[in-house]
Amino acid sequence: MSAWILGHKNPDSDSIISALACADLYRRRGLDVQARAQGKPAPETQFILERFGLEAPEVIDSVAGQDLYLVDFSDKAQAPADIDQANLKGIVDHHKLGDVTSSSPIECVIWPVGCTCTILKRMYDYAGFDVPASIAGIMLSAILSDTVIFKSPTCTEADRQAAQELAKIAGIEDIQAFGMEIFKAKSAVAGTSARELIFRDFKDFNMNGFKVGVGQLELVSLDLVADMKASIEEELARVKSEEGRHTALLLLTDIMKEGSELLMVSDDPVRIAKAFGHTEAELANGHLWLDGVMSRKKQVVPALEAAFKA
Ligand code: MG
Ligand code: MG
Ligand code: MG
Repeated sequence: MSAWILGHKNPDSDSIISALACADLYRRRGLDVQARAQGKPAPETQFILERFGLEAPEVIDSVAGQDLYLVDFSDKAQAPADIDQANLKGIVDHHKLGDVTSSSPIECVIWPVGCTCTILKRMYDYAGFDVPASIAGIMLSAILSDTVIFKSPTCTEADRQAAQELAKIAGIEDIQAFGMEIFKAKSAVAGTSARELIFRDFKDFNMNGFKVGVGQLELVSLDLVADMKASIEEELARVKSEEGRHTALLLLTDIMKEGSELLMVSDDPVRIAKAFGHTEAELANGHLWLDGVMSRKKQVVPALEAAFKA
């Protein structure tokens, strides 16, 4: 039985694309692996896969008894419920170290860069294999998506370098223009329910025993969701009440203005506001404008974790 390479729940482009790229690389290395995903591709990911003529991985929700490699995460909260019954073989990731463990030695590559595909590019180089053009195209796209076209504070020189190299292989001349095409596809909200928008890129975290869910929508303009905000907030309250969550947050990130509006429903909104340096008085109808905040991983989760420890 093939081992599976799996990205996180509510898959973003990097979690699906890094599974596909990692599977290609590992097969070149002689391993018997297949990419899998914990959900269907979002519109952005669909756009990218179609652009380069590749298929989305099969969707699975159980990994019991499987040999398993994780890409783009290592937190159990973002894995299938039976993750403890899988046989963990490896991790390629660019997030904080999560709480999975293994019963035998594993191949683990975790670097503080902007995208899992940046690490995978270096792994191709290290193994001495060329990246095929279509895989290079999707990897470049994942880097542009995760780093918000190099504007996110998570973006490093390694990401820019890998993107340049991948663009050359994929035959993409204008990286910026291609990045805007991706974010226009990502900004597609017409005909989408509030619930789908909240869960399009949503992660649960265990913060000192409290379950905190944080969604993020990266848009070329927040005007796109102006009409939907009330229904999104209503639905966010429902999401908060589910699965024992203490807090449900949604970051509406304006990639042009380079900041985020934070929608929140929480048992302790004051604690959340304080986490971002705001007072109770500044809590206007449960949302805050966080200037310069673009990264959940680097700017939002650490601030929340500190607030929940305090
Ligand atoms: Mg991801
Ligand atoms: Mg990623
Ligand atoms: Mg992201």
